[in-house]
Amino acid sequence: MEGCLFGQLRALEENSVSATTASNLTIQNLNKSYKVAGGDVEALQGINLDIREGEFVSIVGSSGCGKSTLLRIISGLENGYSGEVKIGGKRIGGPGLDRGMVFQEHRLIPWLTVEQNVAFGLNGLENGERDTVVREHLELVELTGFAKALPHQLSGGMSQRVAIARALVNNPQLLLLDEPFGALDAMTRIQLQQEILRIWEAERTTMVLVTHDIDEAIFLGDRVVIMSSRPGTIKKIVPVHLPRPRDRSSYDFVQIRKEIFTEFFADVERPFAYEI
Ligand code: ADP
Ligand code: MG
Repeated sequence: MEGCLFGQLRALEENSVSATTASNLTIQNLNKSYKVAGGDVEALQGINLDIREGEFVSIVGSSGCGKSTLLRIISGLENGYSGEVKIGGKRIGGPGLDRGMVFQEHRLIPWLTVEQNVAFGLNGLENGERDTVVREHLELVELTGFAKALPHQLSGGMSQRVAIARALVNNPQLLLLDEPFGALDAMTRIQLQQEILRIWEAERTTMVLVTHDIDEAIFLGDRVVIMSSRPGTIKKIVPVHLPRPRDRSSYDFVQIRKEIFTEFFADVERPFAYEI
């Protein structure tokens, strides 16, 4: 595969990534451990990652390999690590409006309406402007007709759309998505993947998506970061040079899926058969 045009393009990209100067998010030699029952759990070890402004990066890895810890550190919710995490060259000092986060559960406030939930984290605007920004973001996630609805009146997919609108309302530079579609049924998940792609193309917000769904990672990402566990490290970064929207059954898509699967099961002594 490396001999074909696709392989050459990929080699070019790998070189250009390391040569990038205007990096939005820079992670250098990041280590994080937790004290558990008197011992240390090494959640992350020697993580190095540069994410360009406007890039869409997917992160895959088995449960417990430190994906959520990594996103929490980037969001500023987690301290006590060693190494550097910088946005636009500045060290992260805590949570900030330049970063939005979406979790697997929507975390909406149950007694607030959809529009109140979206407006909740919105800072520093007059009432009129506030209403406009909320309306625009409800349009962005195609929920205009549900502004007055309460969270319990929404489906899982709609709730996640509200969570996405809420995370984008302050116009963050960086959107962090921690398995945002993990609790949704397969059809809704595919729909929301298309939605997030449309939003990314419209807003050009840098996106970091953690997922355990390899197809989702390839469908969305400019690159797929593969992590391994105990301690959590980056095993490989696979660039995805396919035009969007991507065809999950195309030859190149299937080749990338195979490469990621192989990487996942490389350490298994007796690999079991798997369907791809
Ligand atoms: P993932 O999101 O990939 O499933 P996590 O980042 O949640 O992984 O966890 C990575 C490792 O760190 C796991 O072994 C987990 O048990 C441990 N860990 C995560 N959060 C804490 C915490 N608050 N206290 C102690 N250990 C934690
Ligand atoms: Mg997690």
